Amino acid sequence: MTDVKTPRPTRVATMEKVAALCKRRGYVYPGSDIYGGLANTWDYGPLGIELKRNVKDLWWRTFVHRRRDIVGLDASILMNPRVWEASGHVAGFSDPMVDCRTCKSRFRADHLIEERLGTNVEGKSTAEMNAVLAEANLPCQVCGNRTLTEARQFNMMFQTTIGPVTESGLKVYLRPETAQAMFIQYKNILATARVKVPFGIAQIGKVFRNEITPGNFIFRLLEFEQMEIEFFVKPDEAASAFETWVAEMRAWLRLIGVEDEYVRVREHGKEELSHYSDRTVDFEYLFPGAMGWKELYGLANRTDFDLSHHQETSGEDLTYFDQVENRRYLPYVIEPTFGVDRTCLILLLEAYDEEEVADVNGKVETRVVLRLHPRVAPYKAAILPLMKKPELTEVAWRLFDAIQEKTAALIDYDETGNIGRRYRRQDEIGTPFCLTVDYDSLDDMAVTIRDRDDMSQQRMTIAEVPEWIRQQIA
Ligand code: ATP
Repeated sequence: MTDVKTPRPTRVATMEKVAALCKRRGYVYPGSDIYGGLANTWDYGPLGIELKRNVKDLWWRTFVHRRRDIVGLDASILMNPRVWEASGHVAGFSDPMVDCRTCKSRFRADHLIEERLGTNVEGKSTAEMNAVLAEANLPCQVCGNRTLTEARQFNMMFQTTIGPVTESGLKVYLRPETAQAMFIQYKNILATARVKVPFGIAQIGKVFRNEITPGNFIFRLLEFEQMEIEFFVKPDEAASAFETWVAEMRAWLRLIGVEDEYVRVREHGKEELSHYSDRTVDFEYLFPGAMGWKELYGLANRTDFDLSHHQETSGEDLTYFDQVENRRYLPYVIEPTFGVDRTCLILLLEAYDEEEVADVNGKVETRVVLRLHPRVAPYKAAILPLMKKPELTEVAWRLFDAIQEKTAALIDYDETGNIGRRYRRQDEIGTPFCLTVDYDSLDDMAVTIRDRDDMSQQRMTIAEVPEWIRQQIA
């Protein structure tokens, strides 16, 4: 697979512009829209779902199909609650929250301190944060009264009940990460998938977190999707496997057309490390405006924390027998984790561009263009018969079928309205190529291919087009 780079757009994207385009064109809508919405929930529309599927399919092909050492899993969202006791989530998966006694708003204490005082308190204890809060006596961000409570830890797992009666039913959690299922099924996979350390288990799925902080569009959601790998290695090879995964994650970003310019790798300090981690780096992305650098992906060395706790809690032997070394051990686990929604968000931010162009009459107008990499763009091409005339539409539909057959890609078809306006629509939704069928096509059996990024046009015979498109999106 070649790693073609998309032309670098100038950074005109703002979260507001991208969110507006997403709603206008059917990428992402506010959740429960006709009921006034529900904070931090968003729904992917006809184009958004295609972008998201392309991201997930490409990820799966890259890390599962193209490798011999990673196998897939699709586990239940609901698991035995003991899983979350053993993993440490019941005791420790919490955020420090403060409430306003006057207006009842709730805020993350660490974010409040970071935003208002510029102090990074990640990894600090609740008591330490409370000392900072007491000293600063900050006003509520909503009502302005200085009536904030002390910070308290608030568990972020959603709970529900199995069984008809809430009181007597089994209390279960909606998973807040996909990772645990990979540890729980590790033994079954070892027994059935003929894998040997080093090997990985990959999963893509929905997870749920009771997030309080306002969301910044699809950056912070209550339910979102993760693409995660648990990569099991010999303990003394964990450090070098970690470095390999830093490189793999960078390569993935390049594959989807994200350049290094707005990406940095940040090492967690000792006090910031999660309860299970020996080393963590965040892949951070420079979001526009006040958001700045924020976590995009994470990479952690989870050591044998999870396997040893599940071994202890379940009583099952989870050691691995290494035939080469003729000994048993608990593997260490390197975990690269990729948020699907944050991936879609940065792809849209990276792709969004505006440029001044002159129309046929010389009038200058703003062209909004989504320069999405053809690999992830929802429509790979649009077929546009110049006019809605049977002799043209017949050729157009034949071409549509031929491209579909060759590439299995999603192709748009649009026969209404003036051609300039149809091009603009395709620019704005990120379709890389427009194929125009005109009256000359009936003689030369060729079409005009218009490139979204530089608006250049070339003529190509209809017979060649399907294979050409296939190469552009490979
Ligand atoms: P943050 O510090 O932003 O809350 P986190 O450190 O809690 O993130 P992880 O637990 O490492 O995140 O989750 C793995 C990945 O899942 C993140 O790198 C991110 O891409 C994604 N992610 C985490 N929380 C959310 C959320 N609320 N909405 C959307 N994606 C998320």
